[in-house]
Amino acid sequence: MKALCLTQPGQFDFNDLPEPADPAPGQALVRIHRIGICGTDLHAYQGRQTFFTYPRVLGHELAVEVLKTGAGVSNLTPGQFCSVEPFMNCGGCPACRLGKTNCCEFMRTLGVHVDGGMTERILLPAAKLHPSGSLTLDHLAAVEPLCIGAHAWARVEPAASDSVLVIGAGPIGLAVMEAARAALVQPLVMEVSRARLAHAAWMGWKTIDGRAEAEEQIRQALGGSLPRMVFDCTGNPHSMMACFRLVAHGGALVFVGHYPGEITFQNPNFHAREISLYASRNATASDFRRVMGLLESGRIDVKPWLARPVTPEEVSGQFSIWLDPEAGIIKPMIAWPA
Ligand SMILES: [Zn+2]
Ligand SMILES: [Zn+2]
Repeated sequence: MKALCLTQPGQFDFNDLPEPADPAPGQALVRIHRIGICGTDLHAYQGRQTFFTYPRVLGHELAVEVLKTGAGVSNLTPGQFCSVEPFMNCGGCPACRLGKTNCCEFMRTLGVHVDGGMTERILLPAAKLHPSGSLTLDHLAAVEPLCIGAHAWARVEPAASDSVLVIGAGPIGLAVMEAARAALVQPLVMEVSRARLAHAAWMGWKTIDGRAEAEEQIRQALGGSLPRMVFDCTGNPHSMMACFRLVAHGGALVFVGHYPGEITFQNPNFHAREISLYASRNATASDFRRVMGLLESGRIDVKPWLARPVTPEEVSGQFSIWLDPEAGIIKPMIAWPA
């Protein structure tokens, strides 16, 4: 069975993997149909992903088809198409016991800590599969990044009356924007890439050009005030440190993007504004169910950011293009041939 393996930074090779065994109790054997690519994969490709070891089969944004189920699996039947919750949590740590499975102490994420979906078939825990009778393969693969935005949104749950600024208009920023759409909130989105700014504006969002003086533009857009809720979706330390000054007094700041280093801030500014600072990591099963319901009902959509899927053979030639935000590709996709 063929798998596309990242053998070292910058180097993909096709490997022969053994066929997965028959599903054990609670497991399902699935065929991979679509794989979305995101910042995590790009960082792994560049060798900038924390805790990443090579060789690794990437792929955590997956649309799969159930082929076979193990004993005791009641939520799935063969032939169903599913989105995959790629966050394999331990179930026993304090976070898991609180229901915060997204930040399990012993997290094993598919395509990061363990081999992911850039292959033909894999075995997965049935509980991590979320079937849909109506969503397309592209939509199913886009559920996971949408859930990252939905989870971040749920950390602070802005009200319709709250002013919201989303920093970064890549897939994660756009996922937060879709969560805002579902909540009937019209956020501002700030971005430094010209192509992404244009894309966000084309989608109908109110944009702030992050290359220019941000605070002035934001105050202008918000009638003189600063936003009550700020979501930083850049993973860029300069942005993450600067945005403490863009939060209104009494407001909240959510770090959705992840930066593997130190973030510092001026305590007098943080204190004077009494900023509530939140981390947001991964997503939970309930985020998956909520996002899939929103997609199925058409209340949110991702079609405007999905690129034409490429074949596994085309992947290694495409990665350097996908790394460039100015290339204007928001969500690259791989179609794995059946
Ligand atoms: Zn991702
Ligand atoms: Zn755990």
